[in-house]
Amino acid sequence: LLSLEDATVRFGERAVLDAVGLDVAEHEIVCVLGPSGSGKSTLLRAVAGLQPLTAGRVLLDGRDQAGVPAHRRGVGLMFQDHQLFPQRDVGGNVAFGLRMHGAAKGEQAERVRELLDLVGLPGAGRRAVGSLSGGEQQRVALARALAPRPRLLMLDEPLGQLDRSLRERLVVELRELFGRLGTTVLAVTHDQGEAFALADRVVVMRDGRIAQSGTPLEVWKHPADEFVARFLGFDN
Ligand code: ATP
Ligand code: MG
Repeated sequence: LLSLEDATVRFGERAVLDAVGLDVAEHEIVCVLGPSGSGKSTLLRAVAGLQPLTAGRVLLDGRDQAGVPAHRRGVGLMFQDHQLFPQRDVGGNVAFGLRMHGAAKGEQAERVRELLDLVGLPGAGRRAVGSLSGGEQQRVALARALAPRPRLLMLDEPLGQLDRSLRERLVVELRELFGRLGTTVLAVTHDQGEAFALADRVVVMRDGRIAQSGTPLEVWKHPADEFVARFLGFDN
């Protein structure tokens, strides 16, 4: 579904993404792990069309996305700081992506109801965003990202602002949800427990490069190098 070929993003002298090659298959859930500043968000932004590449290519279904604007790529991105619109109610936030894609009013309302049920917030459409807990807001952001039925859903620290027990519960729910919908997911996290629980495949980034890619078990049992081992919390 998604291929990156030598994807490179430079800011001045520094390569924040350094010739990254990555393939994501249909229905696969891939989690990108790595320290702060290793280029995880930049990677997602490049795939979404929000960050132009200095070199290399992004392909979706084999088609080069150079010059294709973000809203025509058919990918959904949930930002690191979920960026809900505080002046809109919950339903207005979820419908936002649908309006951009030109869905009719009645169709929008039906789809919003469906999505709020899906993320476990039935009947919340009229609530003010500010009246929701952090976890509930995160669910609304997820519903909004799912609304246009993206062929690839990208999540940047989807559970970032939540406490551990809620994260652990939501990770299980998310995995079940994506399996049921058959959603292809590229998610970023710096929490390895979360990545290992959610992912079919884990990608570890370091300084704009992929240090290792493998199933959670492979990466856990056979870290590619000392950096990966240390990042995963092994002492040596
Ligand atoms: P975090 O875990 O903290 O979210 P990250 O892995 O998502 O980190 P990125 O946001 O991809 O990291 O940023 C990678 C590096 O690129 C950082 O050092 C950041 O300062 C730098 N960077 C990102 N955007 C720009 C920009 N527009 N101009 C200059 N440098 C940038
Ligand atoms: Mg980031």
